[in-house]
Amino acid sequence: MYDKNNIFAKIIRGEIPCEKVYEDDEVLFFKDINPIAKVHVLGIPKSQCVDFSDFISKNTPTTISEFFNKTNLVIEKLGIAKDGYKVISNSGINGGQEVPHFHIHILGGQKVNLSN
Ligand code: AMP
Repeated sequence: MYDKNNIFAKIIRGEIPCEKVYEDDEVLFFKDINPIAKVHVLGIPKSQCVDFSDFISKNTPTTISEFFNKTNLVIEKLGIAKDGYKVISNSGINGGQEVPHFHIHILGGQKVNLSN
């Protein structure tokens, strides 16, 4: 069940500010408030999806591919494509998901060590 009051829903509605990197009618990419790498950007669809599986099951192949194509454009815009990066999506308790709105982490700008 989707929680309409999760923090990313509030960011989408403009109730909480964020540092936007890219936005259109369908998606929002913004800087993580607690970065774990020099570049740490979050990407979210604006539709109500709890996690990766929910996003995949609720959307058409076109919408899904557009989300990941935009992710790739943001990676290029951030200037981290050449040296490499990580794209991660945490899901549920075992995945360590804190915010129950599907999101991807884009991590780069340095060698990214997730054990830190
Ligand atoms: P996850 O553990 O995958 O659910 O990651 C949630 C991420 O959201 C964490 O990296 C947080 O630092 C980040 N976060 C939480 N609140 C905000 C906020 N208001 N603006 C930007 N990032 C946030």
